[in-house]
Amino acid sequence: MAYVITQRCCNDASCVSECPVDCIRPTPDQPEFATTEMLYIDPDTCIDCGACVDACPVEAIYPEDDLIDSLARFRDVNAAYFQRHPLESNFTPIVTPARPPKELGTLRVAIVGAGPAACYAADELLRRADVEIEMFDRLPTPWGLVRAGVAPDHPGTKTVANMFESAFRRETLQYYLNVEVGTHISHDELLQHHHAVIYAVGASTDRRLEVPGEDLPGSHSATEFVAWYNGHPDYADRTFDLSGERAVIVGNGNVALDVARVLTADPDELAKTDIADYALDALRQSTIREVVVLGRRGPLQAAYTSSEFLALAHLKGVDIVIDDADLELDQASQAALDDPEIEPSLTLKYTLAKEYAAGRRVDGNRRIVFRYLVSPTVLTGADRVESVEFVHNELVDREGRQVAVATDRTGNIDATLVLRSIGYRGEPVGDLPFDEQRGIVPNEHGRVIGADGAPVPGVYVSGWIKRGPRGVIGSNRTDSEETTEQLIADFTMGRLAVPEAGRAALQTLLAQRRVDLVDRAGWRAIDQAEKAAGKSAGRPRVKFTSREDLLKAARG
Ligand code: NAP
Repeated sequence: MAYVITQRCCNDASCVSECPVDCIRPTPDQPEFATTEMLYIDPDTCIDCGACVDACPVEAIYPEDDLIDSLARFRDVNAAYFQRHPLESNFTPIVTPARPPKELGTLRVAIVGAGPAACYAADELLRRADVEIEMFDRLPTPWGLVRAGVAPDHPGTKTVANMFESAFRRETLQYYLNVEVGTHISHDELLQHHHAVIYAVGASTDRRLEVPGEDLPGSHSATEFVAWYNGHPDYADRTFDLSGERAVIVGNGNVALDVARVLTADPDELAKTDIADYALDALRQSTIREVVVLGRRGPLQAAYTSSEFLALAHLKGVDIVIDDADLELDQASQAALDDPEIEPSLTLKYTLAKEYAAGRRVDGNRRIVFRYLVSPTVLTGADRVESVEFVHNELVDREGRQVAVATDRTGNIDATLVLRSIGYRGEPVGDLPFDEQRGIVPNEHGRVIGADGAPVPGVYVSGWIKRGPRGVIGSNRTDSEETTEQLIADFTMGRLAVPEAGRAALQTLLAQRRVDLVDRAGWRAIDQAEKAAGKSAGRPRVKFTSREDLLKAARG
């Protein structure tokens, strides 16, 4: 019997170093790691020891004999990877990185943000140095998109927070939640109290379509909708009109799939999750029967991962609908599909689309409809969205990438709710340099680079603000390791100014400013209260969704 990695894989590769027979691929040092959808276990080499199961922070690994129906196909998905990439020993002895010399004293680091990139950076620093970490977040709660982004029906993915929670038990890491850098404390003050600052602030806004009608009532960004149903206090007062029959989602990445699932899910199933109560009430009243997902490129270029696409097949009461005509491939895509060197995950994407196209429809079911090679050109309606006009595209090769180019064929589709799900976008961070086009802080391996091309001393970035909004939660692990590597090297080489003041002075400063900060005890009180409220209802937690309630719980 072998172990099998399934849909929830977060790519953080914790399992890789635990495997005694080195049978998990790709490994972080392989080029394929940067683009892989997930990690895979070679069934022929696995010795069934289960070491990877204990290491996985998101409970994504199962013995093959225990795979439930909805995950059974991952047995073949794991095996197919090794048919394409036969296992070669990749064994390189793990070298424990050198710790900074003791005489340098304690390294003090401020981390701005408390999401996965911040947490992986903190975890790595705690392992690698004698360090004091102060972790700041403008929200009264930690975990960033693990709390406010991961879909409520993916509870396993959220278990990564347990790993951070136990790694951060020691006093060496302090939480400064509900503290906004730039408002309550400045960047210069952070540098006065620390050797270095790591910004792991993510990508807080969304990209725009730039088509007429985009700002009509009824048209929103998916990022807003996601933050709303996840109970983010800044979005709790938003309203979404769910009184129509059809919603259109523009873009077909994994966020689009999350939103399509939430819109079509049985509310009784959502009631078992940590979805915000007000969102559950609104979804119970929803009359939306059909969600149409518009992709500007073809089925082979779709941005969703094959594992998330596969999971749609197991939604109760929902048909996945694709018109076979939409799956006709242009010459280049057909050649890519026929190439024996094609990645199995890509073949699976197309196979699944074909299966959905041939699937049986059930009267009364809700529907998620996938359309390909279409781009919205205008959203129309008298005083709110009523219709999406679109143009059909064709694919053209531009420097090896298949890009969508509009044809003169047009169409339209009636919808009362339009959610654009075309990617997150980073915002400028204080006075740090900013690359407007990419929405990131310019950096080299995590060291922030100034306008003169030289590193800005003591300032680093990690996560989406460093590399752009792509990758799953665990992708932040290798990203953060790279950043902390630079930071520790700079500390060891004496490139970081010794802070003028330490932790006690920082706490005095924040107390003088009467900042209503939430510390470890405060967060623990919130966490326990939310979990207690969920327990009687059989839910993982019932979230507080306003700052007032969160702060009250923190004090309680
Ligand atoms: P994404 O994966 O980058 O997808 C963005 C989508 O928007 C693509 O289909 C893209 O098409 C399309 N798009 C971009 N500009 C457009 C335009 N002007 N007009 C029409 N379409 C446009 O982004 P995302 O869905 O926001 O996800 C962000 C990251 O989070 C991804 O790495 C994703 O995998 C990850 N995530 C993972 C999970 C999970 O594992 N369950 C859940 C949520 C998010 P093109 O491909 O043609 O550019």
